[in-house]
Amino acid sequence: MNLISFDIEEWFIEKKFNGARQDKYVQYDAILSRILDLLEEKECKATFFCLGKIACDFPYVIKRIAERGHEVGCHSNKHLWLTKMTPKELRKDTKEAIMSLEDVYGQKVVSYRAPAFSIGQQNAWAIEVLAECGIERDASIFPAVRDFGGFSVFKEKTPCLVEFNGCTLKEFPICTMQIFGKEIAYSGGGYFRLFPYSLVKKTIQTSLYAMCYFHIEDFIDTPKKMMSKEEYEIYFKEHGYFINRLKRYVKSNIGTGDCFNKMNHLVSECSFISLASADRQISWDLVNKVII
Ligand SMILES: [Zn+2]
Repeated sequence: MNLISFDIEEWFIEKKFNGARQDKYVQYDAILSRILDLLEEKECKATFFCLGKIACDFPYVIKRIAERGHEVGCHSNKHLWLTKMTPKELRKDTKEAIMSLEDVYGQKVVSYRAPAFSIGQQNAWAIEVLAECGIERDASIFPAVRDFGGFSVFKEKTPCLVEFNGCTLKEFPICTMQIFGKEIAYSGGGYFRLFPYSLVKKTIQTSLYAMCYFHIEDFIDTPKKMMSKEEYEIYFKEHGYFINRLKRYVKSNIGTGDCFNKMNHLVSECSFISLASADRQISWDLVNKVII
């Protein structure tokens, strides 16, 4: 079973941090069109995890996704890391996001992905808060070490149930492969752009489960500038040392020129479904339950 997902946030990030440049919106709109056309051509339905703020400020983006029959999920309201929130703040953020998204989408929003995969052992209470807000499916667990977020002690490799304090969600973890004994993601973001297409395809084709994830930024092939110290600190809420900014710069630019082509090949050679349709195919009484 292969799932494909997109995190939709760039319009809001541009407005909040970079001054709402019209040419950027035109670029994001064009990339979204290419993605939607490609998915339609391949008869593939995806899950688009969208910010509540996109539904408020750019409702046409949500409408375009929904009109093509894709699932709209929630990617928080304002793209703040869950590790920086209290349970009360997460409850408010999630409720606001769901309300705004459902208003435009016209259907229930029950799938969720945390910004930067920011659900880990230290804030496992997020599972309870999300369940209370009406979320049923989660795709926030990244079972490997990463700069932000990550849940490296999580061992399930396929869809499972996660429970915290008696509340349960259907979990669709990010998939990893072992390289030199380390669990490394391969099916989205910078990892997908960095690894050779043949390796990604072979791993997906020989796995029982894969979860691909993309951002609009993955497909922008004009080089992004290195963030200033101030920009970095406002956005990532950590010290903007040169080395941190350099790492981010390399990660955000690597392989972007070829990413759309790679995705095109992948959806041509493997079949992908949304979380909603995977949910219908899984016998949930047979999967493992992880109490976190
Ligand atoms: Zn995001």
